[in-house]
Amino acid sequence: MKYYPLFLSATLLSLPPLSVFAGNAFYGDAPDANHPWAVHDQNRPQAPRVEPGATVGDAPSDSVVLFDGTADSFKRNWQHVKPKNKRRADWSARDGYMLGVGGAGYIETLAQFGDCQLHIEWSHERQLPGTGQGRGNSGVFLPGGIEVQVLDNYQNPTYPDGAAGAVYGVMPPAANALRAPGQWQSYDIIYRRPIVRASVVLDEGSMTVLVNGVVVQDSTPLDGGGGWKKRKALNQPYPDVGPLSLQDHGNPVRYRNIWVRPLRPRATDGGTDGRLSEAATTAKRAEIGAEVRASAANMQGWDQTMRLLEAQMYDSDPAAWDVCNRQVTELVEQLKVLPTKVLEMRRQEVLNLHKALSYLQRFDIIPADYQPAKELREIADALGWLKQK
Ligand code: MG
Repeated sequence: MKYYPLFLSATLLSLPPLSVFAGNAFYGDAPDANHPWAVHDQNRPQAPRVEPGATVGDAPSDSVVLFDGTADSFKRNWQHVKPKNKRRADWSARDGYMLGVGGAGYIETLAQFGDCQLHIEWSHERQLPGTGQGRGNSGVFLPGGIEVQVLDNYQNPTYPDGAAGAVYGVMPPAANALRAPGQWQSYDIIYRRPIVRASVVLDEGSMTVLVNGVVVQDSTPLDGGGGWKKRKALNQPYPDVGPLSLQDHGNPVRYRNIWVRPLRPRATDGGTDGRLSEAATTAKRAEIGAEVRASAANMQGWDQTMRLLEAQMYDSDPAAWDVCNRQVTELVEQLKVLPTKVLEMRRQEVLNLHKALSYLQRFDIIPADYQPAKELREIADALGWLKQK
């Protein structure tokens, strides 16, 4: 035992250090034909930080504020659709709201949007004339022209697919959650536009609408978009982006606190939100694999080897595999001749490597008969490490 410390030091020095954390990647189900990331994958990007508003309904930090109550934000973000010489009145901003009046025509945003989350508040006069569709009619038009109806149907029956919160001409709201006229009403809208390519419907699109915090549309399919008295074909062309617009239907209406946030792109739209096609998954896996290998280049020794093994779960790069195969093989050869006492000191690292190789074999990423994996299992098993979990 007298010589043991010297022997131990020499042996440890001969082996590059293994990180005890390096086995964490080999955990949830591996990437597959439609999932570029493993379950619980640490290489998946973290969500970007967004500061929420002080109160629900306030604009979050990453939103595009389209109206903050000031005349300046009205002028900066909105324009009349109808030329000045063709309209009888103008929209205006006053007392913290935008006022639409009959004859002013529609207004639209200068900016264009695609899939988005929209918050908008609206109100009418406390006393207002008219019945049915003629009572406080306006509308919020999402990019591409699909309308979420604005109407005072608090106590005013109308055709249901034209009530406030309806996807106009497509689907009535699931509930009438309006407040009495004169009070402010809020809409929170999550809009996924139809995606049509060469008359092929990749995604019909959907709308979720909350009226005063009550869900009245829940991923409602857009069915071509609807309109007055007419259905539309599902496979009509549909723009990827467009302005948001507000309707002049001849009735005065007020709008305030308008903000919008783009949504992350869907799988059908070149993004990763949803189930990816096999081709898109393969491309994404190659991208992740390349990133993991690039980070491995900044590592050394067995941290690097473990990182290169990790990269294998995304795609197989022959050069990178040659490097880590050589390193794994050399390490196992060294481990095979180490005394038990030295192996004991490296137990966690050995088990991490065993876990990594077993994982890669379980998902058919490396061969089931990979010799270093077999030998490593024998070493760990002989020491009783595989029985004690
Ligand atoms: Mg309308």
